[in-house]
Amino acid sequence: MYDLHTHSTCSDGGLPPSELVALAKVNGVTVLALTDHDTVAGVEQAQAQAAATSDIEIVTGIEFSALHAFREGSAGMGVHIVGLQIDLQSEVLIQAVAQQTQARNKRAEQIAHRLEKVGVKGSLEGAKHYAGDGVIGRPHFAQYLIDAGYVNTFAQAFQRYLGSGKPGDVKQLWPSMARVVQWILESGGIPVLAHPDKYELTRTKLYELLDAFVTAGGQALEVVSGQQEAGVTNKLAQAAEEFSLLASCGSDFHHPNQPWQALGKIPQLPVSCQPVWEAF
Ligand code: AMP
Ligand code: MN
Ligand code: MN
Ligand code: MN
Repeated sequence: MYDLHTHSTCSDGGLPPSELVALAKVNGVTVLALTDHDTVAGVEQAQAQAAATSDIEIVTGIEFSALHAFREGSAGMGVHIVGLQIDLQSEVLIQAVAQQTQARNKRAEQIAHRLEKVGVKGSLEGAKHYAGDGVIGRPHFAQYLIDAGYVNTFAQAFQRYLGSGKPGDVKQLWPSMARVVQWILESGGIPVLAHPDKYELTRTKLYELLDAFVTAGGQALEVVSGQQEAGVTNKLAQAAEEFSLLASCGSDFHHPNQPWQALGKIPQLPVSCQPVWEAF
């Protein structure tokens, strides 16, 4: 059983890589990719845990943040590109991760500054505290907003402060999708367009995005993401076929208390799909 999209405490997940691998094993995963946001810091720990555990294999991975502008000069949309089977020693990868870390740190300052303007105090220090040694992201700001009493839930934090079009939605620092796809290819990996349904695009826009992704060198589509409805899966399987993309599947697991993204609990890929692991 393949789960090729998961997070650990090295980004915005709730479990350290070793505990993630242990839970994956319990949940029946046999091939696991750790795909933290813009970092590979947890992959070696996951590999070490897997080596000490029988019957589980680790695929090296990352989930890069990128910006896709449908038209030149347009504001652009944030997209996530998973890289599977990347070479951790690749110079291109090491440079790319360093650039993303810088972008994340700068972005965190901008998010805090914008939140300050709408009355939220101390969010940079707060978010840094929750990020710990991991890379900082909006979920850490969300946790601060909850604990400091500005909102009651994660959903509220994104609806009011961090989600699309809100003050904390800063994406202009991310590199283009084409650039990120290139990074992954040059690191020996397979570029996968993550959770296509989350972008809430019309079919026309989704196909425009896929066209740009394929033109850039993209090779696979995440046909199954979490506990997705069959209708969505079938729609994405059809798109993968039309664009001759390989199909990937992953839970996008973050926390054990989020049942819609439970580790290893995902529908099977439709039989029409060509699984991405055939290219491993
Ligand atoms: P960032 O990487 O800093 O852009 O943060 C994006 C992460 O925030 C995603 O990977 C999700 O884990 C989380 N996220 C995004 N939207 C929401 C939402 N509406 N509610 C809860 N978490 C979200
Ligand atoms: Mn996340
Ligand atoms: Mn994502
Ligand atoms: Mn993810």
